[in-house]
Amino acid sequence: MNILEVDKLTKRYGSEIAVSNLSFSLEEGTSTALIGPNGAGKTTTLSILAGLLKQTSGTADWKNHSGIGFLPQHPQLFPWLTALEFLEMAARLSGIAAREARSRSIETLQFVGLGSALNKKTGTFSGGMKQRLGLAQAIVHRPKLLLLDEPVSALDPTGRREIMNLLKSLQHDTTILYSTHILNDAEEMTDQVLFLRRGQLVEQGSLEEVKARYAEPNIRIRFQ
Ligand code: ATP
Repeated sequence: MNILEVDKLTKRYGSEIAVSNLSFSLEEGTSTALIGPNGAGKTTTLSILAGLLKQTSGTADWKNHSGIGFLPQHPQLFPWLTALEFLEMAARLSGIAAREARSRSIETLQFVGLGSALNKKTGTFSGGMKQRLGLAQAIVHRPKLLLLDEPVSALDPTGRREIMNLLKSLQHDTTILYSTHILNDAEEMTDQVLFLRRGQLVEQGSLEEVKARYAEPNIRIRFQ
């Protein structure tokens, strides 16, 4: 069953088309990588799906409107707050009742490996810890659909592995759509790859299919 259906989604900024006629669907419980170079339209697409930006035309229909989690490319983590204060605030904002917010936040921080940093200020966190806290904010309300904008692009190999392992452990209960600008960042957990270039979907298939096509010299030229 599809949890999300995107049909002819288009976003224009004046005369510039950031996303053009984009159509795809996400099957429940699958993971999809949205791949493309800088300016391909990944952030625009995810922002529309997260409800932060209005499309010019086209539709995005999802099964459970409230069940979406979003990790922006540069999450605002409020450096003066502790991890627990930050996540409790995020939990309340995502509709979790006050009496549950604290326990849910502690549980989620433990899940992302920040159980020993609950009372540390987020401003003291390493890049990897910040990204895990950002992920905690995106999943604290247990969304069915998780949207992540370049979740590993700014991380070192250890940080990437940590985030990817967390996504792997979420993937059975959660449908995941994440963006990346490098095909090699797409992990084996990825069921579907959507390749965007200048706002258009230029390739779609399994990771193996797209990697094989990408390796062919005549196809490769199309992505450079
Ligand atoms: P990156 O990997 O650099 O984040 P991206 O694939 O996420 O790139 P977008 O940020 O969605 O791409 O941008 C797609 C296109 O839309 C780009 O050409 C960009 O310049 C343009 N664009 C994005 N936001 C705006 C805006 N607010 N006003 C005008 N043009 C914009």
